[in-house]
Amino acid sequence: MRALIISDIHANATALQTVLAAADGVDAVWCLGDIVGYGPDPNESIDLLMDLPNLVCLLGNHDAAALGHLPLEGFNIEARSSIEWLRKQLTPQSASFLQSLDSHTEVNGITLVHASPREPMLEYLLDTYSVAENFSYFDTDYCFVGHTHVPIIFTLKDHVVHLEVPLPNTQIRLERRCIVNPGSVGQPRDRDPRAAYAIFDEDTNVWDCRRIEYDVESVQQRMQAAHLPERHIVRLSTGW
Ligand code: ZN
Repeated sequence: MRALIISDIHANATALQTVLAAADGVDAVWCLGDIVGYGPDPNESIDLLMDLPNLVCLLGNHDAAALGHLPLEGFNIEARSSIEWLRKQLTPQSASFLQSLDSHTEVNGITLVHASPREPMLEYLLDTYSVAENFSYFDTDYCFVGHTHVPIIFTLKDHVVHLEVPLPNTQIRLERRCIVNPGSVGQPRDRDPRAAYAIFDEDTNVWDCRRIEYDVESVQQRMQAAHLPERHIVRLSTGW
């Protein structure tokens, strides 16, 4: 069984379409949340996801904010104005899809959360110290997370957390136990503007870490037209 692992689409339908086309032939799609926020295509991104067979989809903090479940005070001023725009765009159908999602789940013995096992909606797993504490908050071999927009693998060996930043387009056999992030489809933040995703083979435990170029300019043009914050438009070109 091969599952496409995606996260942090952030209303970038062009990046999502490109990833879905490249990952043709997978058996399931696991989306780790933040479908909307920042980007110009919230409803289009949700429509693309809803059509996918064997979809497991989580709620992210931006999705929750879009629904009014998280106070806007927790977001910086630009993210806030972007969320206010998003709330006006969301169709009833999109809103009810987001309403149906949870921020964590378990599929085939694998934990899926948006942010961290300890705080599924808020914590950023960027350093081995906070990751070490999180291993006691789930008991499966693997935990897949999003939220930081950075592809990374944290493996717990002999009570020590080892950090690995996988090179784009490489395959890594996951060891027990680990916390893995596929990176962001629609707003990468590791200085590589290409859309990030992964394909996980449940039979071999191989994590196929992938990057793919997409038409960034067309997304930026739609963001300009929607008067979304300039910083969010610019950052797509450089992937930060
Ligand atoms: Zn995000």
